[in-house]
Amino acid sequence: MTKKDDNRLNSKRRTFLKGSAAAAFAATGLSAVPGSSVATSGPEPIDPDEHELPNSDVKKLQINEEVRDVTHHWALLTTDYDLTLQRIREADAPDAQKRRVRAFLKDVWDAYPTERVTDGNEVTVELADSASGGLGDNAEKKFDKAAEIVADGTSIVDGPVQPEWAVSTHRKMAELSANKMNVSGASEIAGHADDPDYWDPEIPNWLPGFVKDAINQVMHSYGHYYNPGLLGGTGGAPSNAKEYFNKAQDADDSGNTSDAREKAGWACHFVVDVGGPLHTGAEASQAANSSVHFDYEGWVANNWNSGENFSDEIDNNTYYPINSPSQATKDLAGVSNDYVGTIFDTINNNPDSWKDDDDVIDATENVLVKTGYYNKGFLQEIF
Ligand SMILES: [Zn+2]
Repeated sequence: MTKKDDNRLNSKRRTFLKGSAAAAFAATGLSAVPGSSVATSGPEPIDPDEHELPNSDVKKLQINEEVRDVTHHWALLTTDYDLTLQRIREADAPDAQKRRVRAFLKDVWDAYPTERVTDGNEVTVELADSASGGLGDNAEKKFDKAAEIVADGTSIVDGPVQPEWAVSTHRKMAELSANKMNVSGASEIAGHADDPDYWDPEIPNWLPGFVKDAINQVMHSYGHYYNPGLLGGTGGAPSNAKEYFNKAQDADDSGNTSDAREKAGWACHFVVDVGGPLHTGAEASQAANSSVHFDYEGWVANNWNSGENFSDEIDNNTYYPINSPSQATKDLAGVSNDYVGTIFDTINNNPDSWKDDDDVIDATENVLVKTGYYNKGFLQEIF
């Protein structure tokens, strides 16, 4: 914990936040169960660990380490082989190159067949017992090339996508959250919730190449991303969320309302970013095939209050108390990261039917609920 966090937690106004969420409930006399509180109309905290998500049995697809060790492009191993060959056929590339890629992938699939092992709702992609390994020199370069050709064919087969999601989902989430927490200036906060996507991208040089590529292609900037499972936790979203949470509180404490609303909108931005599973992993696969990312996020935005109605489960006055904005953002990214395999794999392999896939729908609903509750918590604590 930094000095700044420390000061904040010790400030008079927020003393009740010290310690666990449970302590916060005790201090406020509220129960962790929504609906049973003595307060009937105001915002109600709930401990994230006690909160039952709408879909407890959603499939979690994990790609195990053996598979990841073969290549960052694990999607090329877990893919539907026929669909992939069709995408290569359609790609806009010289025939000789397509032949080489096809031959390489067939070698890969022979050498590293995968299988899916199911245990309850956890599905793990592992190398099959018959995997023999060995792909010769420059395999990673060949994987990069193969991914590029497959992605090109995918964009031709599936058509172009509209990266329209960001503005809409960021704004709608912030506005709903502010309204539910009785925070005034909801539309002003929402108006700033997409600002960070217009900032210059930041992509640190020390990052592994496949992460830099993914940030460049789909996540925009290092600070809009966090993968809890990579190098002990990689990405700047938690520190950005914390920075603007603190600045928003400072501005609010000193009566600078418009500044507070701007910074609150920015803080919420980074929470919503890592509430998107595709901002928490599957880097190499997304760098090669960015259409999955934009297609998915477009679908989320289009189903906000129609179709799947994702906003429904957020449209209430319950929120997660925020003891540490940075840790809260990491916790949310952890839940998102549980679903990144399910979402990328399903969309990549089922371009025509994934929007009706129960696992994609249920995983998305779960993670959006958590995102909404954290967003509401941020705004509740800031104002
Ligand atoms: Zn962003």
